[in-house]
Amino acid sequence: MTWIKPILISTVLWLLALYSFAQKKNITPFEKSEGRATSTYFECIEYYKSLADQNRLIQIEEIGKTDSGYPLHVVAFNFNGRTESPTKNKIKILILNAIHPGEPAGVDASMMLVRDLASGKILGEISGTISLAIIPFYNVGGGLMRGSFSRANQNGPEAYGFRGNAKNLDLNRDFIKMDAKNTISFVEYFQRFDPEIFVDTHTSNGADYQYIMTCLDTHPQKMGGKLGQFMKEKFTPSLFESMKKNGYEMSPFVNIYGKTPDKGYGQFFDYPRFSTGYTALFQTIGYMSEAHMLKSFKERVQVTYQFLISILENGVANKDLIRSIREIDRANIMEADKYVLGWDQDHTESDTILFKGYQASTIDSKVTGGKRLKYDREHPYEIKIPYYNKLLVNKSITVPKAYVISQAWDKVIKHLEVNNITFSRYLADTLLTVETYYIEDFKTYQSPYEGRHREDCQGSRTSPQLTREFYHAIAGN
Ligand SMILES: [Zn+2]
Repeated sequence: MTWIKPILISTVLWLLALYSFAQKKNITPFEKSEGRATSTYFECIEYYKSLADQNRLIQIEEIGKTDSGYPLHVVAFNFNGRTESPTKNKIKILILNAIHPGEPAGVDASMMLVRDLASGKILGEISGTISLAIIPFYNVGGGLMRGSFSRANQNGPEAYGFRGNAKNLDLNRDFIKMDAKNTISFVEYFQRFDPEIFVDTHTSNGADYQYIMTCLDTHPQKMGGKLGQFMKEKFTPSLFESMKKNGYEMSPFVNIYGKTPDKGYGQFFDYPRFSTGYTALFQTIGYMSEAHMLKSFKERVQVTYQFLISILENGVANKDLIRSIREIDRANIMEADKYVLGWDQDHTESDTILFKGYQASTIDSKVTGGKRLKYDREHPYEIKIPYYNKLLVNKSITVPKAYVISQAWDKVIKHLEVNNITFSRYLADTLLTVETYYIEDFKTYQSPYEGRHREDCQGSRTSPQLTREFYHAIAGN
């Protein structure tokens, strides 16, 4: 029985290493400042490197470029990030932080989360069934433009990064057009890791209410099939339940602008240009956590930390079910005749939610001389309000056998490659009868948006026509 000895020795060494890791405090800059400071980009990366040096469950890797010139990192917990090989019986979860560096609660919450998972302080044995990947600081360029005034009415931290990236792009509008190097690096990694659950951490502004956190979930109808239904009926409710049990009751993201929520509101529609809208295209359950800016930074980090733990716990509890229904949905999508391209909110049907708000009034603004909304925290209320969370299909297509793309459209082809869309090239000039879309008329908005001129869909028309087209589609030249 000589093999028992090496196993015993390695187990003892492992336990000693775990004990010594747990003994080291690994205090984060957020904790050192007692909740007043958020980590800089450099502090954040150095912190994870130090954790990785101490604990073999943690790795930190560079996964691509960002517009700032600094690399994009991913922290892998409990799987080999180098070989991208999470094992089959684990739930794969991806967390994205600092897409908006002025909203950094997730940066600091994730640093504590990884430390506490690795030391065994939280989740205990079930942490062994999670493959967790964290992009610790996504918008590096924005993070380097640190100041204290770009979110002047936010309640801390003392200094924080700027929303736009090094090219002044809002990265949470870039997931389809991929103008930023950050986005290309993210998409490549997302496609390789293929997470079952995705979380993008934010801080919201706007109306005041009693909740420290609201939750923006990708629209379950867009997920299609069984996974969307499971998310709406089981996963999201159990997430809300577990947050409430831990003292952080949440509300669905308060999607209103310039008015109060007491008449109800509709579910935020996350187009694919948003993070969760993008990840939903690949049957990944997605949430944006929205800690509220008027609550202290310390509370916002704590609530985000708890939200991430609740995601991990619920992910583990449902991991086999999520994997199996996701596979069924993906197979069904590949077989489907129709594919939905556009949605409208259904204003006729709603759910009812209990909303815990503050009474509001309109007062004179001392700054602008105009009127402004004021929420009165001395007067909380609870009211049942309609929540419009159903969608109607406004555009769908019959799925063609294939699309033919001219090789001149190299930007489109690059997007397909990065997104892991399989395609093949014609080996010689080929005559095909195809249906072609013609743009008959188009209008764009007057102002550019995120580096592009958006099409005004109301004013544009396209029509499909059957034509004979000759494609110079020659491979290998
Ligand atoms: Zn944000």
